[in-house]
Amino acid sequence: MDATFKPRWPRWMTEDLRIFHDAARRFFEKECTPHARRWDEQGVVDRDIWRKAGEAGLLCASMPEEYGGAGGSFAHEAILIDTRIKADAGHFGLSLHNAIVAPYILHYGSEEQKRRWLPRLASGELVGAIAMSEPGAGSDLQGVRTTARLDGNHYVINGSKTFITNGQTANLIIVVTKTDPAAGAKGTSLIVVETDEVDGFRRGRNLDKIGLKGQDTSELFFDEVRVPTSNLIGPQVGLGFIQLMEQLPQERLIIALEALAGIEAGVAETLRYVKERKAFGKAVWDFQNTKFKLAEAVTAMNVARAFCEECTEKHLAGALDAATAAMAKYWLTQAQCDILDECLQLHGGYGYMNEYPIARLWADARVGKIYGGTNEIMKELIARSL
Ligand SMILES: Cc1cc2nc3c(=O)[nH]c(=O)nc-3n(C[C@H](O)[C@H](O)[C@H](O)COP(=O)(O)OP(=O)(O)OC[C@H]3O[C@@H](n4cnc5c(N)ncnc54)[C@H](O)[C@@H]3O)c2cc1C
Repeated sequence: MDATFKPRWPRWMTEDLRIFHDAARRFFEKECTPHARRWDEQGVVDRDIWRKAGEAGLLCASMPEEYGGAGGSFAHEAILIDTRIKADAGHFGLSLHNAIVAPYILHYGSEEQKRRWLPRLASGELVGAIAMSEPGAGSDLQGVRTTARLDGNHYVINGSKTFITNGQTANLIIVVTKTDPAAGAKGTSLIVVETDEVDGFRRGRNLDKIGLKGQDTSELFFDEVRVPTSNLIGPQVGLGFIQLMEQLPQERLIIALEALAGIEAGVAETLRYVKERKAFGKAVWDFQNTKFKLAEAVTAMNVARAFCEECTEKHLAGALDAATAAMAKYWLTQAQCDILDECLQLHGGYGYMNEYPIARLWADARVGKIYGGTNEIMKELIARSL
């Protein structure tokens, strides 16, 4: 990906964070970029990239050092998102592992759970996933049908999940279950399944997607899977829905930041391309339409960046509310699709070829409007706050 187009640093960037940014960028460019197309073909990143990222201190970057993390903040995660996507490693599910899965354990886990799981997530021995969606329940999480039945000092889990990121690789999966199917949201509990420790767990297909080709998005099946009651996240059953609602704003901000990085990468790539490509004896850049399209794109990109910066600052201060996170997720992912579509158009036929970065950025962008809660659900959340 062309790196000549350098947006300015966000206000929250410190000298230490710049050093971290440089290290992260170098890591992704060395360890991921050369393998990106091969990972797309195999539908999953190599297992050893997780260990390498762990050794480089990039896994659990925002987890406390006492639990094996790097002791950073969400700013570190924002940097990992930016550098990872710009290094053509959007399919490496590191941000989900770091900033979606690990926080459930940190915020709601017992001391024993934190010591048991976080250091192994930080080293890459464990790869994390979170399994909410089911074949019959995505937007409507209250409709989850996977059950966890209490049997002595074990839960017995039955059900199936789908669209689970890191699904072929993950060996620590937070499973959204119904511990009391009659109690609606209050009967929902999050339970950790360490897949290497149980019988009855099966991975289904690695799903064939239109983008994010190198990410293993999978079906998962649980058939009488027995886990100790000590794998329940939270001091008691029935808190799962509240825990999800509390953590989803961070997930949505992550998706917004991924969208921003995708926009910046796409605009940089397009500026480079149109200045090189010739038509009618001049550079494509020389047509007024090209200049206007890119003027619009860069303007929207700056508006997007300003809102992302405000949301990130709010989040770092612990003050990002659910409706604002939903606005960021909805608006940024829509802007990403709109801008990247114009960028692809400026590439002509080459824009439709997977070997060109803009084609992959365009295809990868589409899911942003769907996962983490669809943009229609985001508008519902925003409207509820009005
Ligand atoms: C690549 C990828 C990775 C994913 N990773 C994960 C993961 O790691 N873990 C996980 O648990 N899930 C994951 N998902 C699932 C994702 O979160 C769901 O697909 C998403 O929440 C939508 O659910 P659904 O697919 O069941 O769509 P549905 O809920 O069936 O929605 C279908 C349509 O109806 C609309 N709709 C639904 N309800 C309403 C309403 N109340 N008002 C207006 N419109 C409505 C939706 O907006 C959508 O347009 C992933 C999905 C993809 C594609």
